[in-house]
Amino acid sequence: MGGAAAPVIEVAGLTKRYKDVLAVHDVGLSVQAGQIYALLGLNGAGKTTLIRMLLGMIAPTSGSAWVLGTAVSAGQRSVWARTGYLVEAPAAYPELTVRENLHLYARLRRLKHPGRHVEDVIERLALTPYAGRRARILSMGNLQRLALAKTLIHNPDLLILDEPVNGLDPAGVVEIRTLLTGLAREHGTTVLISSHLLAEVARLNSRIAILHQGRLLAEHDATSLDQHRRRHLHVSTRDDTAADRVLRDHGYHSDPGLLLTDERALTRPEEVATLLVEAGVPPTELHLVEEDLETYFLRIVGADHA
Ligand code: ATP
Repeated sequence: MGGAAAPVIEVAGLTKRYKDVLAVHDVGLSVQAGQIYALLGLNGAGKTTLIRMLLGMIAPTSGSAWVLGTAVSAGQRSVWARTGYLVEAPAAYPELTVRENLHLYARLRRLKHPGRHVEDVIERLALTPYAGRRARILSMGNLQRLALAKTLIHNPDLLILDEPVNGLDPAGVVEIRTLLTGLAREHGTTVLISSHLLAEVARLNSRIAILHQGRLLAEHDATSLDQHRRRHLHVSTRDDTAADRVLRDHGYHSDPGLLLTDERALTRPEEVATLLVEAGVPPTELHLVEEDLETYFLRIVGADHA
């Protein structure tokens, strides 16, 4: 390792087996400084297990992980000083106020000027109106914000967040997104997040790793994800069997349900319409459908079962 360009996180052949469950299977990835990197996967995909291994909370069955230039081993805490992490459901001392919770946390982190850090993070996370409230009466969204405040209190170089927008209302989701992109852009903070929300992750403009049943299926950036999404021309007629025959006779490839994926059909749909009109099966509907992110995700995941 070493050198300015060394990745902040480097994982090779990382595997975790629990008896008969292969929770993480031979995962390799690297995360560069200042990058937002998203682990995307359904429940049970292995995201939390992978994150716990990166934090040295559990030992891998095999493989290796380097975080901030240090080889991770279970129980070794040196990485935690420069890392903010949120892995559990947000927890706080219910009888303490938001400010008191943060003070306690700042002292646990042995920060030199705890008061300054606390006030700074309260402001950054828009917690000022709630600073004097006891944690037990906070909404789920504000509890999550308090949890995030804890992860950020020591201005970490690396932020590792497991499902950080769970339980947040739409405004809270946008707020967290703005916060994370701002941290990466303005402070060079590296962010690893996990999520099952494809659309949300796509908006983060992050690098995206798709994890399914413990394996890394694909890696994209937001633009390449766009290119991999399928498009098709969806045609409806009053006699789809006849229309299908006409289209095939003219060299189009038509999937069941009259879905055309040929480049020709996608770029010149009017020719398809003309052809069908002239053949006596005019389209009752004809529109270009772009695969949405959820469908894309399900297709990639489905390919695994094929
Ligand atoms: P979620 O979003 O539901 O937390 P995830 O992607 O984080 O899902 P993991 O929690 O890492 O997934 O779980 C991956 C697989 O490993 C699942 O099948 C899970 O049941 C299993 N698993 C996780 N922890 C343990 C454990 N301590 N003992 C046995 N099996 C486990």
